[in-house]
Amino acid sequence: MILAPFTLHRPESLAEALSLAAKLPDGGYDWIGGGTDLLQNYKNRLNAKDHVIALDRVPEMRGISAERIGAGERLAVISESAVVRERWPGLAEAITHVASPLIRNSGTLGGNLLVETRCYYFNQTPFWRGTKGSCMKAESDECLVVPQKEICYAAYSGDLAPILGVLSATLELASPAGTREVRIDEFYAGDGIRKNVKRADEIIVGVKVPAEASTLRAGYRKLRHRDALDYPEMGCAAALRLDPSGRIELLRAATTAVDVVPHFLDFSELMRGQEPDTAFAEVAAAMEERAQPKKNTSMPVGYRKKMVRVYLGRLLDDLRAGRTEGRIPAA
Ligand SMILES: Cc1cc2nc3c(=O)[nH]c(=O)nc-3n(C[C@H](O)[C@H](O)[C@H](O)COP(=O)(O)OP(=O)(O)OC[C@H]3O[C@@H](n4cnc5c(N)ncnc54)[C@H](O)[C@@H]3O)c2cc1C
Ligand code: SF4
Repeated sequence: MILAPFTLHRPESLAEALSLAAKLPDGGYDWIGGGTDLLQNYKNRLNAKDHVIALDRVPEMRGISAERIGAGERLAVISESAVVRERWPGLAEAITHVASPLIRNSGTLGGNLLVETRCYYFNQTPFWRGTKGSCMKAESDECLVVPQKEICYAAYSGDLAPILGVLSATLELASPAGTREVRIDEFYAGDGIRKNVKRADEIIVGVKVPAEASTLRAGYRKLRHRDALDYPEMGCAAALRLDPSGRIELLRAATTAVDVVPHFLDFSELMRGQEPDTAFAEVAAAMEERAQPKKNTSMPVGYRKKMVRVYLGRLLDDLRAGRTEGRIPAA
C-alpha cells in the first residue's frame, strides 16, 4: 500500500509544534509519534490529513523519572527502563503485550494512549470497504455493526490505558491555548469516533504517575489470537494493596477492547476490609457485567465478555500471591 501524500513538519520544541498547529487549518493535520498506527491508517486512506506534525524532536516529551514518563518515549525504552521496572513493574510487563518488538521500538506512549479505535469494517483497504459500502467512521454515514447513524461502536483497543488507569496516572496536555492535566480514567469519553476529551490541537506531553503507584501490586492480562502481535480482544488490569491482616485496602480494575472506551472502576471504598476471595469474585463479575463488546472484532462477543471475569479473577489471584507473568527478566 502507498501512503496518502502529506506535508511533514518536524518541530524542534513544544512551542514550535504548538505554533505550527495554530497556523494550520482546524482538522487539517495530525500529530505523529512513532507512526505505527497513523501511517497504517493513512495507507488505508482512513481520514488522512494534508499535514503531519512529527513529535519525535520535541525535548519536552522525553525523559523517564520517578514521577513522569515523556509521552514521546518509545515503548521498548520505557519497558526496559530501570526506573519503570523498579517502581511500576506491572507497566513494564504490560508494554511487552503491545504488538511486536519491532513496533515497540518505534511506537510511543502518547501514540498508544491515542491509538485508533478498531472495527472489522473500518481497518481495511479502500477496496475492501468499497465492497461493503463503507461506514460512518470512513466514507459513508451509517454504522455496519449496529445499523443507525449516531454511534460508532469501534472498540478502544490500546493496551496501556488500563494499567496506567489503575495506577491513577494523569495526562499532561498542551495546546496553543495553554496546558492542563486530565486523569486518565476521565480522559476517554464518547464513542468510536469521538474517543476522548482531547482537542485536535492538544498534544499529550507526558504521563504523571503518583508516588502511591509504586506501593501497589499492579498487572495486566490480555486475550488475543497470537501472543506475538495481535491487538487485545479483551484486556484487563488491576491494582491491589492488602492491609496487614490480608484484607482489601485498595482495589482498582480496568478493561480494554470490550467497549468504545476503556472502563475504570475504583472498588476500594466498597471492598475495604473484605476478604480477598469474596472481593475478587465480586470485582471480576462487576467488570464482566460492565463490558459491552460488539460483533466487530474476530472473537465471539460472548466469549470476550466472559473472559473479563476469568482473566481478571486470575490476575487478582496472581497479584495477591505476588506472581508475575515472567515476561521481563527479574532484576
Ligand atoms: C501489526 C500491529 C499490531 C499492533 N498491536 C497493538 C497491540 O497489541 N496493542 C496496542 O495497544 N497497539 C497495537 N498496535 C498499535 C500501535 O502500534 C501502538 O499502539 C503504538 O504504541 C502507537 O504508538 P505510535 O507512537 O506509533 O502512534 P502513532 O501512529 O504515531 O499515533 C497514533 C495516534 O496518536 C496520535 N498521537 C501520537 N502521539 C501523540 C501525542 N503525544 N499527542 C497527541 N496525539 C498523538 C496520532 O495523531 C494518531 O492519531 C499495533 C499496530 C500494528 C501495526
Ligand atoms: S462500529 Fe460502525 S461506524 Fe464504527 S467503524 Fe464499525 S462499522 Fe464503522
